[in-house]
Amino acid sequence: MKIVRTISELKKLVDESLDKKLSIGLVPTMGALHSGHISLVDKARKENDLVVVSVFVNPTQFNNAADLQTYPRTEEADAKLLEIAGADIMFMPSVEEIYPEPDTRQFDLGPVAEVMEGAMRPGHFNGVAQIVSKLFAFVRPTRAYFGEKDFQQIAVIKKMVSLEGFDLEIVSCPIVRDTDGLALSSRNVRLTPEGRKHAPKIHEVLAESVLKSEEMSVPELRKWVVETLNNEPTLKVEYFEIADSLTMQPVNSWNSENQPVGCITVFCGDVRLIDNILYPHKKA
Ligand code: AMP
Repeated sequence: MKIVRTISELKKLVDESLDKKLSIGLVPTMGALHSGHISLVDKARKENDLVVVSVFVNPTQFNNAADLQTYPRTEEADAKLLEIAGADIMFMPSVEEIYPEPDTRQFDLGPVAEVMEGAMRPGHFNGVAQIVSKLFAFVRPTRAYFGEKDFQQIAVIKKMVSLEGFDLEIVSCPIVRDTDGLALSSRNVRLTPEGRKHAPKIHEVLAESVLKSEEMSVPELRKWVVETLNNEPTLKVEYFEIADSLTMQPVNSWNSENQPVGCITVFCGDVRLIDNILYPHKKA
């Protein structure tokens, strides 16, 4: 595996692969890698000749300075994991390399980016679009891999791809969970022992809510999830929304146009955790 820190070296290696007509899989990450990230790399490895994994904590997608500062960074461990997973290139640039000057681009991402994460984290999705569009331009991937843990992000990336006219496949990959159901996240290392004990409740309650969706309306279920989780020590729901899984717009009944998805963020102490679950589609 080559560790590459400059765009020029990355482009040179990509050019060589494209000259040979090789397919390229890209996995964008912010590092502090865990089995969730590695599941994306595994899928990319199976489906492409060349696998590029970027590790870059992108400052323009953080709307909270403390979150950016405390974001875990584990370069050496990440390199070892990627080597074992069989990545070909680990692209680990500096902030100056990616943003030699401020990126002032504003993407017109539309309604998918205005709700939930978009409403709670102003500028977040624009920052995601900035970095991912740069990575797509450098790597020119055949396929790019994203996790369904960040469900709304996938819809936003697809919108950006359509706006910018990139010619590639966006591959979405299922959420990888710990044995107790907690969705793996780089931020989990920041949980206190007490927080870590209660955090699995998030998935437990979401899974139970799928059964309850048989008998409850959307507004009733929304209320039940929020109240049940807020009754747990250390957990505080920031938002829970049941949305159309393609448009990301909130729905008020189970027979929405596309399958409903429940998207949640919960503060566990001061750590912001995100998760989601799909509900049965009851379209007539
Ligand atoms: P991040 O480093 O948090 O920006 O995540 C990089 C990519 O890995 C994103 O596409 C995430 O959705 C994905 N990812 C993170 N955690 C998980 C997980 N537990 N299961 C599946 N994909 C994940």
